[in-house]
Amino acid sequence: TMRVVEQLGAIDPTLCAFVVVHNILGIRPLLNYGSKQLKKELLPLLATGRELAAFAITEPGAGSNPRALSARAIPHGQGWRLQGTKIWSGSAAWAGAINVFVQQLDVKGKSRGISSFLLRRDTKGLRQGPEALTMGMRGMVQNTVFLDDVPVTDENLLGKPGQGMGVAQDAMMYGRLSVAAASVGGMKHCAQLMLRYSSRRGVFTGRLLDNPVTLTRLNGLIAAITAVETLVTRIARILDRGGSVPVEAYTACKTSGPELLWQAADNLVQLLGGRGYIETNIAPQILRDARVLRIFEGPTETLNMFLGSRVINDSEELHHFICQGLGAEAVSVRLKEAAGQIRARLTSSPAPFAHQGAANNWACFLAGELATWAILQAAVAGVDESAQSESCRRAVTWTRLNFDQKLAQALSLSPNESVVDNADVTAQLIGNYTETIGEIEQTLAGEDYELDKLLQLHDSQMGKDINIQFDKEQTPIHHSLAVSFHNSQSIENWMRLWLIKNLKIASKSIDSGKSFADYGLDSLTAVELATDLSEWLGRELEPTIAWNYSSIKSLAEYLAEGTSTANAEVVKAEISEDISDEVKKLSEEEVKTSIKDELAEIESFLI
Ligand SMILES: Cc1cc2nc3c(=O)[nH]c(=O)nc-3n(C[C@H](O)[C@H](O)[C@H](O)COP(=O)(O)OP(=O)(O)OC[C@H]3O[C@@H](n4cnc5c(N)ncnc54)[C@H](O)[C@@H]3O)c2cc1C
Repeated sequence: TMRVVEQLGAIDPTLCAFVVVHNILGIRPLLNYGSKQLKKELLPLLATGRELAAFAITEPGAGSNPRALSARAIPHGQGWRLQGTKIWSGSAAWAGAINVFVQQLDVKGKSRGISSFLLRRDTKGLRQGPEALTMGMRGMVQNTVFLDDVPVTDENLLGKPGQGMGVAQDAMMYGRLSVAAASVGGMKHCAQLMLRYSSRRGVFTGRLLDNPVTLTRLNGLIAAITAVETLVTRIARILDRGGSVPVEAYTACKTSGPELLWQAADNLVQLLGGRGYIETNIAPQILRDARVLRIFEGPTETLNMFLGSRVINDSEELHHFICQGLGAEAVSVRLKEAAGQIRARLTSSPAPFAHQGAANNWACFLAGELATWAILQAAVAGVDESAQSESCRRAVTWTRLNFDQKLAQALSLSPNESVVDNADVTAQLIGNYTETIGEIEQTLAGEDYELDKLLQLHDSQMGKDINIQFDKEQTPIHHSLAVSFHNSQSIENWMRLWLIKNLKIASKSIDSGKSFADYGLDSLTAVELATDLSEWLGRELEPTIAWNYSSIKSLAEYLAEGTSTANAEVVKAEISEDISDEVKKLSEEEVKTSIKDELAEIESFLI
C-alpha cells in the first residue's frame, strides 16, 4: 500500500490525498469498527470506488485539539440526534459515507467521551456546506458539513459509544504513515526536477549542478529520502508481519516526512530561479500541496509536543520499538539521556520563560524534535550491516549529525529564546506596529458556490432577486460610460422578468408568442412597460409600443433591430460631450485624426 501511496505522492499530491482520505480515513473506521450490516452494505461500494468515504472531525473550535469538539450526540428515543458543524472535510461533498466524531452526551447533558458515527449521503439533517478555497490541494473538495439534528442509531456507530477517539486514532496513525510515504514520493520528484534543471543550466560558477550549494542541498535531500523511506518501509514490514507499532513511531513519520518535503519543495523553487515561480513549471503546485502536509492530520508542533512528552516520560513502547523493532538500542539510550538533559535544563529554572508550565511545554517540544531525528536515525542505523547500501550508510551519518546539532541547540540558549517574553509584552510590541503601518485588514472575495437566484427552481426566490436585477439595469445608459447592446433574446428575457415581477405571472406560463393582453396588460401597465423598457434600453419609445407590437417576441425583434443603431448614437453623443473641451485645444489635423479613430472604434462596436 505504501508503495502505491509513494507513487501517487510523486505524481500528484492532491490525487494522493484524495486516495488516502478515501481508503484510510474513510474506509478503515468502517472496516475495523463498523457493524456487520453496515460493512455488508457499504464496503463493496467503497472498495470499488462507486462511493467515496470521508472523515469529519475538525470543527471551527477544535482542530489540533480534538478533545474540544462541540458537535454532540443527544439521546433521542432508541438512538441519538447529532448536532454541530464540521469544517474542511476532504471529499465530504462527494462522499456516500462520512465518519463524524461528536461528544456523546447522556440524558443529563454530560459528556461521556467522543463517539464516532457513519452517516450515509442522504441522511436527514446532514447538509453539505461551502467548499473552502484552499492554497493547494485544489483537485479535491474540502467543505463544511452541517449536522442539523441528524437521527442516528446503534447501526451507525463505529466502535462503542464514548470510544470514538480510538477509532479516529486508528485511522489517523495509518494516515500519518501514508503522509510520510507520500512525502517520500514528493521528495523524489523534487530531486528529479532539481537534477534535470541544474544539469542543463549554466550559472556564473559554471554548471549549476557542480556548484557546492546545489550539491550540498541535493545530497542532503537524498539522505532525507533514504531516512524517511527506510522508516516507512520498516514500519510497513512490521505491520505486514502482524506486529504492532507504537503511536510514537507513526508520529515521527508525520513530523519528519512533511517537514523534509517542505524543505525539498522550497529548495526546488529556489534552484529553478524564476522558473520555479512560474505556475506551468509544476514547482508552485508542489510547494502549495506540500505545505498542508505539515498542518493536517496533526500539525508538526502539536505532534512534537506529544512525542516529546512521551520521551520525557520514558515511554516503554517507544524504547521497545527502537530497540526491538528497529534494532538500534544505542540510539534509544542516547535519546533517553538527551531527553533527561533537556528536562534538567528547563526544570532547574523556567528561564527564559516566566512559568514552569511554559518551560515544561518547551522541553517537550524540543525533546519531540530530537525524538524525530532519533527515530529516523534508528530506522537507518538498525538496518543489518549486510543489507546496508551506501546511501543508507550516508543517511546514518546525516541523521546522527542532525540529532547532535538539534541536541546542542536544545541545551543552549537559542537566539529566539534569548528574546522571548510573555504574551502581554509580546502583544504590546506587535501593537506598536500600528504606528508605522496602521491596522491592516485585508479580505479576499470568495468564490460563488450557489446557483444564481435567477436560475433557481422557485419563483418566489426569483421574485426577490428580480428587484436587484431591475435596480441595477434601470441605470439610464447616458449616466454610465458602459455601453451595452441588446439582442432580441436579452430583450425577451428582460420582458419575461418584467411580467413576472409586475404582473405576478409564473415564469412557466409565459409564452413569448402570446399577446400582452392575455397576461392582463391594460393601458396603464402597457405605458409602465414602455417607460421601464425605454429607461433600460436608454432610448425613447412610444408609450403605445406594447399595443403596436403585441407579444414579447414581436416587440423584442422590433426593438433589437433599432438597438444597435440607437446605441451607436448614444456612444457618439457621450464621446462628443466628454471630449468637447479637449477638442477646442486640438489643431485641425489632430481633430481629423481623432475623429477617424473614434469612428473606427464605433464601427468595431457594431461588428
Ligand atoms: C486542505 C485541508 C484538508 C483537511 N482535511 C480534513 C479532513 O478531511 N477531515 C478533518 O476532519 N479535518 C481536515 N482538515 C483539518 C486539519 O486536520 C486541521 O486544520 C488541523 O488538525 C489543525 O487544526 P486547526 O487548523 O484548527 O489549527 P489550530 O488547532 O488552530 O492550531 C494552529 C497552529 O497552532 C500550533 N499548535 C497547535 N497545537 C500546538 C501545541 N501543542 N504546541 C505548539 N503549537 C501548537 C500549530 O502550529 C498549529 O498549526 C483539513 C485541513 C486542510 C487545510
